[in-house]
Amino acid sequence: MHTKHSNTPLLHHSIIPSLQQPMIRIFILFILFSNVNLSIADEGMYPLSEIHKLNLKAKGLKVSPKDIYNPGNIGLIDAIVNIGGCTGSFISNDGLIITNHHCAFGAVQAASTTENDYVTNGFLAQTRTEEIIAKGLTVRIVDSYKDVSKEILSTLTDTMDLTARTKTIDKRIKEIVSETEKNNPGKRAEVSEMFTGKSYILFIYTFLKDVRLVYVPPRSIGEFGGENDNWVWPRHTGDFSFIRAYVAPDGSPADYSTNNVPYHPKIFLKVNPNGVDENDPVFILGYPGRTFRHRTSYYLGFEEDIRMPYVADLFEWQIATLENAGKNDRAVSLKLDSRIKSLANTMKNYRGKLQGMKRLSIVAKKTDEEKSLQQFIDSDLKLKKQYGTVLSEIASIYNEMRAQSGYEMTFDYLRQSSTLLSFGFSVYEAVRELKKPDLERESAYMDRNFARTKESIISSLKNYYEPVDKIFFKEMLMRASRLPKNMRIPIVDSLIGSVEPEAAIDKLINDIYSSTKLKDEAFLLNTFSKTPEEIDQLHEPFIELAKTIYPAVKQLREIRQRREGALSKYSALFVEVKEMFQKKNFIPDANSTLRLTFGKIEGYAPADALYSSPITTMKGVFEKTTGVEPYDTPRKLIEMYKAKNFGRYMHKKKKDVPVALLYNLDTTGGNSGSPLLNAKGEVVGVNFDRAFEATINDYAWSEDYSRSIAVDIRYVLWVTEKFAGAEHLLKEMGVK
Ligand code: ASP
Repeated sequence: MHTKHSNTPLLHHSIIPSLQQPMIRIFILFILFSNVNLSIADEGMYPLSEIHKLNLKAKGLKVSPKDIYNPGNIGLIDAIVNIGGCTGSFISNDGLIITNHHCAFGAVQAASTTENDYVTNGFLAQTRTEEIIAKGLTVRIVDSYKDVSKEILSTLTDTMDLTARTKTIDKRIKEIVSETEKNNPGKRAEVSEMFTGKSYILFIYTFLKDVRLVYVPPRSIGEFGGENDNWVWPRHTGDFSFIRAYVAPDGSPADYSTNNVPYHPKIFLKVNPNGVDENDPVFILGYPGRTFRHRTSYYLGFEEDIRMPYVADLFEWQIATLENAGKNDRAVSLKLDSRIKSLANTMKNYRGKLQGMKRLSIVAKKTDEEKSLQQFIDSDLKLKKQYGTVLSEIASIYNEMRAQSGYEMTFDYLRQSSTLLSFGFSVYEAVRELKKPDLERESAYMDRNFARTKESIISSLKNYYEPVDKIFFKEMLMRASRLPKNMRIPIVDSLIGSVEPEAAIDKLINDIYSSTKLKDEAFLLNTFSKTPEEIDQLHEPFIELAKTIYPAVKQLREIRQRREGALSKYSALFVEVKEMFQKKNFIPDANSTLRLTFGKIEGYAPADALYSSPITTMKGVFEKTTGVEPYDTPRKLIEMYKAKNFGRYMHKKKKDVPVALLYNLDTTGGNSGSPLLNAKGEVVGVNFDRAFEATINDYAWSEDYSRSIAVDIRYVLWVTEKFAGAEHLLKEMGVK
């Protein structure tokens, strides 16, 4: 969807080399999967409220639903944490948590310097006092939950306009959260929408803010294979790390302090050094982020035709720009690494989804399903009256979004393209919002969130690199200048004029970047305590720019609130009537709340005549190793492999250390770091990814291709004990 022109680097990077191989493989898949029967409704991410209904024994598990979740008592879920959007689990009584390397990556980057480059070399604290702050990471543990759908939906009226509907729901949620936090000091409350416009659950979380790094392997293990291997099976990445949660001496959650002590969880998971084998039953408890299986064909069509191609192309170009900027200077690449990683992760995920959607004709299948649904509705007068226009109402919203997408996508990414513009925007908005009563503010500026908002601004300032900021900003301004007449962003036109856009853009960028003070941390922080009038007096160019675009931002926000109101209203009806039609109760889409999924260790056939078995070993690491990034295994590890120094971690039949596992569990982003548990609920791996073909399972799940990937616990322990020499951690976990 980007506008291509002769001198944009986009042209040179439309297919990065690393993608070529999977692409060929996936092309073959097309032939295979055109015959696959999609079981769209076969979801397996069970929320807490559903666990008691499951017959886990029949699935080969030795734990009962009560062992997993037992309200009022202790269950395995009490050992599961949400850590900065990923999942982790307690594996010792002293707050030791295992999660992914990629989940701790931002924190490792923040702690690294060119002298102490923990990203490259890894980090090990030999003693507790050597553990260092994991910046940006917090830990949430579920205390309890309660259905608050009635409390929210009863505030709505039939005659309410759609924008008011969104605002009313938002307000009620904020009130419930604030009341709950007042009544539960130190806890964090969150209302999660389970079915759009239909059901809402209030979760109360223990919220720990002092989190520290304990052991992180070097990048050449933790991210072995890099972006080439990301979203790929067979896999050989040691994607794990150990961190620890701390609390005040009295046990209450507290900010970082040297007086703090390790947190004692209600329960911790047993680590089983013997691992699992093919066909063994396994399950996962974790915090899957988002799935969209209950959405309509209109939503999916918009994703496939408009949003994902635009974002994937833009990110691909941004990644190339960032890599180029840092390639000869480690101090620079240290600032940019984490951003590259997250852009690349999304970009490749979208490419996988786009391929899968096309091959599996997902939109066409949904369209057929909706046609039958419409017939079902139309065949009954009562149903027709209540649900007759639901699908066409939803369609009209996505049609409107399609028509406006040139303007909206460009505007959205223009605002985000420059770090300094986003700071200017935050300051401009914050000083105004802070004058309002707490519950009426945009959520980022509410008392409960504002300190974190500032922290994240300051941490992105630490990674600020001006040459890239300018390039990104210029690119988006150029894109804006090339939009067709009916899509113009008026303020952009007025800023750059239309005669010679490039020269005007260059001048604008030079002027504002040379006169801004927002790069100065103290200055930036200080702006947040000023009044709007004092801010105006500063004549800070990026804040002035933010002021110029603010009315358009507000206008777009209102438009989106109206759409959200409509979608909330009609999606609820859509799910309701679809449940009647299909005669079943749906499991809600993933929404970053705690879920259970189960299945077994199992290979798959990604292409005709190809079968991928589900366990990789060190042999594969050795074979892939070239000595050049991202396949530059540390020499010590290769020597350990050659010496067959496997100890108790050897897989008996393979006579090798298992590195990664494949299984048919239903996971998505956010499940990163989830413990993979054996039938008895013991940790045998750490989930970190999915096969390329399984990226599509955010839209539709299938037994044939939905496969997730974990690092095998035997590899984790082998590396931790024999490579890092961290025997004290094995002792702490009780495996030594
Ligand atoms: N590696 C993945 C992520 O982006 C995990 C997944 O989506 O399966 O979080």
